[in-house]
Amino acid sequence: MSKIKYELLHVDKYSKARRGRIHTPHGIIETPVFMPVGTNSTVKGLTNDQIKNIDSEIILSNAFHLFLRPGMEIMKDFEGIHNFMNWNKPLLTDSGGFQVFSLKDRKISEEGVLFRSPLDGSKIMMTPEKSMEIQQTIGSDIAMAFDECVNAKWGYEYMKDSVDRTYRWAKRSFEAHKKENQSLFGIVQGGLFSDLRQRSLEQITSIPFDGFALGGLAVGEKYQESEKVLKEFGDKLPKDKPRYIMGIGSPTMMFLSVENGMDMFDCVLPTRMGRHGTALTWNGKLNLKSAKNKFDHSPIENDCNCYACKNHTRGYINHLLKRDEMLGKTLISIHNLYFNIHLIHKMREAIENDSFLDFKKEFFSNSSYPLQN
Ligand SMILES: [Zn+2]
Repeated sequence: MSKIKYELLHVDKYSKARRGRIHTPHGIIETPVFMPVGTNSTVKGLTNDQIKNIDSEIILSNAFHLFLRPGMEIMKDFEGIHNFMNWNKPLLTDSGGFQVFSLKDRKISEEGVLFRSPLDGSKIMMTPEKSMEIQQTIGSDIAMAFDECVNAKWGYEYMKDSVDRTYRWAKRSFEAHKKENQSLFGIVQGGLFSDLRQRSLEQITSIPFDGFALGGLAVGEKYQESEKVLKEFGDKLPKDKPRYIMGIGSPTMMFLSVENGMDMFDCVLPTRMGRHGTALTWNGKLNLKSAKNKFDHSPIENDCNCYACKNHTRGYINHLLKRDEMLGKTLISIHNLYFNIHLIHKMREAIENDSFLDFKKEFFSNSSYPLQN
């Protein structure tokens, strides 16, 4: 099989939540799915075995960072990222759009974005064609079109021009993409303006991409603002293709996204929090650095089947964190990713039983996570 194929299995009776399956060249992904982030071709602090043991079906990596380091010469020499990091399951790369636009010193033109390399200051031109070349060299199963990530604060007129430019770049991405065993997703932009979101959605979905993403969310907007976009546009994305919302990973936002028909999410949150000593549990967040864990013989979470909880106590992990031992961060990262992935597993079961909204209610009444944030 060359490209991905999406199968819609079931839609929850009382919400737009959907249960699906994506067939990829490196195996099957059940959806909804949470994708751990491996920016530098490593999910920070975890071995591939550890990633697989938390039941991760797909990981995400970053075209922009891999382009800078190790660079495409090395990526070519190793014949792509799967060989390079010895990962034999599905992998998605983002296009680098978000990272390029986070740089201070950059200039946008019709051709693309001119920026200075954060490594040596040399000038680099990133274009849709260049982004496709990079992602094809990396060899991810799913690549993303090159789009402009716009700050909503830049105003309506700028956003309008940007939406049209993103459409032209999406067409150029689609035309430049030739790799047969790699799928390409388009990204709908438009910020928080309903008419521009609608415009972008019509433009981007007119191109026969293999899947579609909502971009430009999870960039500091209010919960109500992302909720409005998701409610209005989540289910307007084509029903027969995977739907991806970028940068989402908190329980609050994952519930909101699934409820509105989205299938795929990624976020650095579980591993970042892990490195800072905070665990995600079914009750809420737990600070393992706190001295109250010192004599605690219980695992991070009772009844959790992750490696950290099966083998180690809160007291031991507290000690590792106090001594700044890397194992402490690894153990909490394992637990946090396991938590996110298995929370999604429970959502899948609930969708199959048409009880997604009941499950959501139960989850928030039994935990301190905010229903809205
Ligand atoms: Zn655990």
